[in-house]
Amino acid sequence: MFLESYSCVLCVEEVEELDCPFAQFCWIFLGIQWDNSLLPLERFILAKQHFGCVTFREVMIIACCTTLEHRNSIIFNNGHLSFTAWLRSFEHELKLVVLRAKPTVAAKLTSWLSSLFLFNTLSALGLGPL
Ligand SMILES: [Zn+2]
Repeated sequence: MFLESYSCVLCVEEVEELDCPFAQFCWIFLGIQWDNSLLPLERFILAKQHFGCVTFREVMIIACCTTLEHRNSIIFNNGHLSFTAWLRSFEHELKLVVLRAKPTVAAKLTSWLSSLFLFNTLSALGLGPL
């Protein structure tokens, strides 16, 4: 599919959505690294390998959806760019997926979410990973 523009509507600079600083911050927070120099399939495979958890697919899909929803809320509902709002939405959606997932997947997603918040809280306090 061809679009007239691939520029991120939220950024002042004319950057493509893949290079959007807000999206990059969200991906870093989640522990997902995208190597934009690679082709999409290679980029996906490498990011999955580096993620190191079997919940990569679920986390990546939820992150894409919540980022798109956050952009739409800004464009169509006069919302504001907010990492906190994005994170709240991401956590809410992930917990909904946990409710519908098989018990083994639900346990892994819950564990991943707990470790994500613990890791980022310790990092914010300057204590680093355990
Ligand atoms: Zn942007």
